[in-house]
Amino acid sequence: MYRTLKIKLDKSNDLIQTMKLWNAACQDVIDYGFAAHDYNKTRLNRATYKDLRDKYPTLPSALLQTARDQASDMLKRLRFEKKPLKHPLGAVRFDVRTMKVFLESGYCKLTTAFGRLRYDFQLPEYYKKYAAWKVVNAQLKIAKNACYLNVQVEQPDPEPTTGDKRLGVDLGINNIAVCSDNTFWESGPVKAVKGKYQYLRSKLQSIGTRSAKRKLQKLSGRERRFQRDVNHNIANWIVSKPYDVIVLEDLTNIRNGKKNKKLGKWSFAELRSIVEYKAIAISKKAVVIDPRYTSRTCSRCGFQRKENRDGRTFKCKSCGFQIDADLNASRNIATFSRSDSSRLSVNQPIVAG
Ligand SMILES: [Zn+2]
Repeated sequence: MYRTLKIKLDKSNDLIQTMKLWNAACQDVIDYGFAAHDYNKTRLNRATYKDLRDKYPTLPSALLQTARDQASDMLKRLRFEKKPLKHPLGAVRFDVRTMKVFLESGYCKLTTAFGRLRYDFQLPEYYKKYAAWKVVNAQLKIAKNACYLNVQVEQPDPEPTTGDKRLGVDLGINNIAVCSDNTFWESGPVKAVKGKYQYLRSKLQSIGTRSAKRKLQKLSGRERRFQRDVNHNIANWIVSKPYDVIVLEDLTNIRNGKKNKKLGKWSFAELRSIVEYKAIAISKKAVVIDPRYTSRTCSRCGFQRKENRDGRTFKCKSCGFQIDADLNASRNIATFSRSDSSRLSVNQPIVAG
């Protein structure tokens, strides 16, 4: 499993200069690759390396290589439909060739245009548990008052549990999450906050000035962070329950786009990925199933009919069982994951962003 640690470095001129050169070199490779319609790393290297070497004599060749790799990836992503543009101070990629990070001791050595340099940092308390993990790669970013090294660390997944106590989780609009152990995470408080954001957004949009646009951008960043925080809280709540297997619905094709006036577009995909990686980290399993018929099947007798569901209430037309509709669905999710293996989707561990 992977985690990304955001580590603050002091802003320094040698880092900024290195970033500028690296991004310029990356853009040069992009320009060539775009014109030549080629994103193959080996061919890009053959065609551009010598020129880059001459043009950027202070950039070590290992950095030229990561710049070329980045260029290749960006070309590949846009498929030559549009020319990728690298920001002059965009993120710089570091890998094992160009960096060494000593998390425990609080410093790193980075290859720069001025040689291999040492940078000290304070590893925050909440990252101490990752100090012994293996460092895979990093991205150097620049902000107003500091540089940030986003370090990706890796550790093998812990042995998964052999237990099979299953918790079904229904994701939705009235309740963001309902668990088959009869617990609910209501969306009311979240809707109130999202409503406030929506109000501010529409006001700023109607103004339309440059400063309003800037504010709008800040606002959407805040809203995203709010949503992520809530999703983290919900995920913690779910995975800490005394169950071995967490069963979620695969909503990629069905409900992810479903909008609610007050909830807006909630990121259930994000919630799902957080639940998955948190579960794996504590030896639990996370399973995703196809959500078909989970809301119209009676969780007591199995009778399946669309009319069983009436708004937020489920009432079985066969056995008369009556229950909250989302809770009924969550129980089915747990049951179906056991009985119907054709519903199981492949569950890949998700890399934490
Ligand atoms: Zn029934």
